[in-house]
Amino acid sequence: MSQAYSQSQSGMGSQLQLQNRLQGLRNSIQNIQEIADDTTRACTIAALDLEEIGESEKVSEIDSSLRALIDAQHRLEVERALVTRLATQLDSETAEKEYMTGWQKNISKYEKMSEASKYGKNDMYREFRQQIWDVKHEGEPMPNLFEGEQGGDDSDEDLVIAGARVNYRCPVTATWLTDPVTSKVCKHSFSREAILDYIRGHGGKCACPVDGCSNRIRPQDLYADKVLERNVSRHLRQLESEETAAQYTMVQ
Ligand SMILES: [Zn+2]
Repeated sequence: MSQAYSQSQSGMGSQLQLQNRLQGLRNSIQNIQEIADDTTRACTIAALDLEEIGESEKVSEIDSSLRALIDAQHRLEVERALVTRLATQLDSETAEKEYMTGWQKNISKYEKMSEASKYGKNDMYREFRQQIWDVKHEGEPMPNLFEGEQGGDDSDEDLVIAGARVNYRCPVTATWLTDPVTSKVCKHSFSREAILDYIRGHGGKCACPVDGCSNRIRPQDLYADKVLERNVSRHLRQLESEETAAQYTMVQ
């Protein structure tokens, strides 16, 4: 019954308990990562509102907070990897030393990295900056975020992303996105009902309907994309104000 008793009686028992605690720690880290992702999405929505009303100083504050969050996420990721390894070598004499060395090595390597590598390669951060850019420069390509940022493959990919982002139509219905969801796997977005119907119509699992995308699409990989929803509304408002005068003469 008593944990302390069984622990003192058996080395096996205490090791099992430690294994469980390490598993618990890994789960907590995973939870924090998920909360950080949600927080980033919420911050992005707030920053978009601020950018729209010209509060760029407050947008910069959110930007700095996101960078600090990315740094913290990196430390958690290092911790998670090290703890996972530690769990397999509990009986090893050198485990603690390896853990400490691994930690110092990883952290000092990160500190020496350029901002372009730390943040420029982070999908969440790029997404954030792209959305902010689009508020006032919709349809224009976003300039490099960091000085000395390399072109090549990276910039090709950005062009594709930028091109995809200004298309606010659902690939399934070809009409404006409503209640948009985005696939965590391939980042393609759809109107919720349309894609769920599409998946059901294909027996519950099928390839992503976007031309050239070979990823599988499954309901559990889709998340409600509130940032995109907001951008679609903004885009439609813009169109409306630009075309108010012409709207009755436009037949189709
Ligand atoms: Zn896709």
